[in-house]
Amino acid sequence: MTAKILDGKVVSKEWKKEIEKKVSELKENGVTPFLNVFLVGHNPASEIYVRNKKRSAEKLGMKCEVIHYENISPEKLKEEIKKKACDKNVHGIIVQLPLPEHIDPEEIASCIPFKKDVDGFSPYNLGKLVRGEPYFIPATPYGILKIFDHYGIDLRGKHVVIVGRSTIVGKPMALSLLLKGKDATVTVCHSKTKDLEKITKEAEILIVAAGKKRLITENYVCKGQVVIDVGIHREEDRWVGDVDFESVKEIVEYITPVPGGVGPMTVAGLLANTCKAAEMSLKNG
Ligand code: NAP
Repeated sequence: MTAKILDGKVVSKEWKKEIEKKVSELKENGVTPFLNVFLVGHNPASEIYVRNKKRSAEKLGMKCEVIHYENISPEKLKEEIKKKACDKNVHGIIVQLPLPEHIDPEEIASCIPFKKDVDGFSPYNLGKLVRGEPYFIPATPYGILKIFDHYGIDLRGKHVVIVGRSTIVGKPMALSLLLKGKDATVTVCHSKTKDLEKITKEAEILIVAAGKKRLITENYVCKGQVVIDVGIHREEDRWVGDVDFESVKEIVEYITPVPGGVGPMTVAGLLANTCKAAEMSLKNG
C-alpha cells in the first residue's frame, strides 16, 4: 500500500491563517511584526530561501527587510546586527545560513538578543530548549511538530530516530521531542553511527536531516513507520530529499514529500516565532 502524504503545503496554509489573524490583532494594537534578515555573499539557494521568507511575511501583513552584503567582516556584521537589535520596531532578527567561511555562525547568533532570536539558534535559546522551557523552538523542528499535531500523530512514548545532529535541525528536533507533553523516546544518528539501517528500521517515526540525497532507501524502513524528510537538493530540473521517496512510499504508512513537506512548514515556523516576538514586545512594553 502507498503511504499517506503529510502535506506541508496544506498544513502551512492553515497555520498561516492563524498567524495572519494574530498579525491583524497586533496591528490593531499599533504593532506590525517586523523581521530583519541578514544575508551575506551570493549563495543562489539562500537567495531563494530569503526571497520566500520575505514574500510569505509580507503576504501575512508583516514587514520584512533583507539586509544583503556582498562581503562583510564578522566585526562589522555584529555591529550591524546590534544596531537592529536596539530598534524597538524590529521584532525578529535572523542570519541566513550558510555564512561565508570567515564568519563563525555561533559567534553571530550570540549577538542577537534572545527575545529577537526567532530562529532560536542563540546559545541562550538553545539552552532554554535543553532545560525544557523553550522561548522559541527553531523553525524546522517547530514545523515538524505542527505536522504531527495536524495529522494526529501521537508522540508519547514513541521511538523516534533522527538521522543528523546539526545545531539547526537534528539536535533541536531531538530536544523538542523530549519536551514534557511530547514525551518521545529519541535516538540520534550521525555519520559515525554503526549499522544505520538496523537503527532506522527500529523507529516508529523516522526524521531524516543528513543533507545526503536519497540516503534512506527501502532497505532502511519498514511497514507502519512515519517518515519525515528534511533534506532538500536540486537535481537537474527538480527537488529531491534525503529519502528515496519513490521506493520508501511503497512501504511506510506516512511520508512527507519534497518539495511541499517540511520546507513550507519551516517558513511558517519562522513567521509564527516573529509574531510571538512582536506579541511579547507589546506585552512587555
Ligand atoms: P548538516 O549541518 O550538514 O548536518 C548533517 C548531519 O547529518 C550531520 O550531523 C551528519 O553527521 C549527518 N550525516 C551526514 N551523512 C550521514 C550518513 N551517511 N549517515 C548518518 N548521518 C549522516 O545539515 P543540516 O543543516 O542539518 O540540514 C540537513 C538537510 O536538511 C540539508 O539537505 C538541508 O538543506 C536541509 N534543510 C532543510 C530545511 C527545510 O526547511 N526543508 C531546513 C533546514 C535544513 P556528522 O555530524 O557526523 O557530520
